[in-house]
Amino acid sequence: MARFVFITGGVVSSLGKGLTSAALGALLQARGFTVRLRKLDPYLNVDPGTMSPFEHGEVFVTDDGAETDLDLGHYERFTGVAARATDSVSSGRIYSNVLEKERRGDYLGKTIQVIPHVTNEIKDWISIGEDEVDFMLCEIGGTVGDIEGLPFFEAIRQFGQERPRGDCILMHLTLLPYLAASGELKTKPTQHSVKELRSIGLQPDILVCRSEHEIPEKERGKIALFCNVRPDSVIPAYDLKSIYEAPMAYHKVGLDQAVLDAFNISPAPKPNLDRWIDVEDRLHHAEGEVRVAIVGKYTQLEDAYKSIAEALTHGGMANRVKVKSEWIDAEIFEREDPAPYLEGYQAILVPGGFGERGTEGKIRAAQFAREHKVPYLGICLGMQMAVIEAARNVGGVKDAGSEEFDHEAGAKRFTPVVYHLKEWVQGNHTVSRKVGDDKGGTMRLGAYDAALTEGSRVAGIYGNLAIDERHRHRYEVDIKYRDALEEQGMCFSGMSPDGRLPEIVEWKDHPWFIGVQFHPELKSKPFEPHPLFADFVRAAKDVSRLV
Ligand code: GLN
Repeated sequence: MARFVFITGGVVSSLGKGLTSAALGALLQARGFTVRLRKLDPYLNVDPGTMSPFEHGEVFVTDDGAETDLDLGHYERFTGVAARATDSVSSGRIYSNVLEKERRGDYLGKTIQVIPHVTNEIKDWISIGEDEVDFMLCEIGGTVGDIEGLPFFEAIRQFGQERPRGDCILMHLTLLPYLAASGELKTKPTQHSVKELRSIGLQPDILVCRSEHEIPEKERGKIALFCNVRPDSVIPAYDLKSIYEAPMAYHKVGLDQAVLDAFNISPAPKPNLDRWIDVEDRLHHAEGEVRVAIVGKYTQLEDAYKSIAEALTHGGMANRVKVKSEWIDAEIFEREDPAPYLEGYQAILVPGGFGERGTEGKIRAAQFAREHKVPYLGICLGMQMAVIEAARNVGGVKDAGSEEFDHEAGAKRFTPVVYHLKEWVQGNHTVSRKVGDDKGGTMRLGAYDAALTEGSRVAGIYGNLAIDERHRHRYEVDIKYRDALEEQGMCFSGMSPDGRLPEIVEWKDHPWFIGVQFHPELKSKPFEPHPLFADFVRAAKDVSRLV
């Protein structure tokens, strides 16, 4: 049976609960323990798959095909443990399960209530797979006091009571605001948020206090006294230049020690932090810089492409260069020549996306990269746009486009070089889809195998002819254009194992031009950069040497 750490937040949102949980996971691993991280989200969507990246940031996809919260990306990047569908759950999912059971008759004769039916469902979810690890870290989204979060807080209260003493602890994140006028850090909001927790029966064991200024010993003592935690369990969390400094920074201020103490694990196993020392060394000793233009639609919110930004950073770490990624709104290229915008970059990345807006601009970015021999990485929609560009400008299909845009517009305007996928093989069965199907959870999702062409650039990069990568798409490049495009020098260098679905394309006569139908960014880690990102940044570095 695992030990459980519940992570909650108070005072304000966006304190970095996800990162703190991930960093704690990494530190427990460094002490030789196995971990799994889990996110409980109070919103009513069944999963974030249908939410706009503007609102919720990126949707992180797991190997087993769940569309989940972006915090799961942090968990994976810090621990290397592949997240599963059961590591992300929302109120929507919980209620939907409860209501399904009610209809099925599982609770016959009973009145269905938040306590115990909803809270039981949450507790069941929390404990899934607990036998597999030493520690289960469960983060609760939102802040204490939110109405919709209450069933989750109540569930963890009950959970702690039902488990043997000492098997569960609560770590609460707060903020210490700084008042410049009086030159003071204020502890009152923290006191209030702990009071709020205690009013629903929860007493934190560890308090992590975000602060822009050093927290004096006196204030730590005061927080400990008023919030009923031990002084060495008041952990300061200062701003960091890079998120990858978090494990070492938290270790230095005693977070992992405080957690082990709270569980009475003594003596605490010595940590091996070599991995994180190397990560910091690579971050801080970069030689030179490359600039990468990310031509996309969701450019206002950095979180919309979180994993891509991180994977580029990892690619930089692999090459000991700093990667400066800059977002450019694709729509600009629908009005203006891309050249003046793109000339200063050593590489161009077109990320995934949905809907027609901005796509003509992405097609022009792909054209610029092909013609000017600038390294190009097209991910999902970015691959589809590269193929449409090729079909239009060298393949003789002048009106090439994607069915996605025709469906959206309700009119037939394009020759569908990219079509709506109606059938594909998953394991040993065939999945079927129709155009009018529900939108939630119906894409081609999760890990699928691909077979690479011997001698292709990607085969060299992966050092393997069989790969598996995570997918999230509804549309697909039509294989029937393969011959025409291969005649022009575009190689379909990765295919689904049945040979029906193009997974990777690359231009032969180009220093580095690769489009992938999957999302390699989801599997990149700072200590294990994804080979495609590592090689993409290497190619960009080579360009920067030439200029
Ligand atoms: N909208 C495209 C599709 O559904 C691309 C999806 C993506 O980029 N993730 O196929």
